[in-house]
Amino acid sequence: MHGATIEIPGVGPVMVVKSKRARHIRITICPDRTIRLVIPRRESLEKGREFLRSKVPWIIRNLPRAAELGEPRGGNLPDFEISESRACKVLIDRLEEMSRVHHLPYGRVSIRNQKTKWGSCSSKNNINLNINLVRLPDQLRDYVILHELVHTRFKSHGREFWAELNRVVGGDAKGLARKLRAFRLGGHEVGGRVPGAAAGPAPQVKEPILALEELFS
Ligand SMILES: [Zn+2]
Repeated sequence: MHGATIEIPGVGPVMVVKSKRARHIRITICPDRTIRLVIPRRESLEKGREFLRSKVPWIIRNLPRAAELGEPRGGNLPDFEISESRACKVLIDRLEEMSRVHHLPYGRVSIRNQKTKWGSCSSKNNINLNINLVRLPDQLRDYVILHELVHTRFKSHGREFWAELNRVVGGDAKGLARKLRAFRLGGHEVGGRVPGAAAGPAPQVKEPILALEELFS
């Protein structure tokens, strides 16, 4: 199934991805206008196609917006090394992989350019990731992703949370949290705050969403 595409007149090719982890059929648009249709393994390709067909107006409406979001915004991230669309893909792929490997399903993901948080997980288990995660060492990028995935099971930073996080990072979660604090985000120090500390209802975030998603419901 990997690599399959569906051609939609007026939209272009849509990549079809079968996912063992996904719980809903969904459509994601990245800033480079890559459109992906993610279908949970238990759902049929036909149902995915049907959803896709019904969402063509949504895609057409949101394509220009997605492209706009991908345009460089003057000097905010002078040392940004890779494109936003590439960063979106790296983070979403990594999140999906870790979710599958550790059996920690999530709702949906949005990638944002946040100034104060590396990530968050809402009460509905929707995960927000900071696009600047791609600038961290892989180990710390993975730590943040796993931290948010563990919040899908435990909302507060209690003993059970840290035990589960230790299990999935393979050891010293608190040591990784300390290492992460040495990194500055958007010119501001993250201030000793553990990423995603504001778990629970998603805070109002003003930063633009860098990947748009529509869920089957
Ligand atoms: Zn947290």
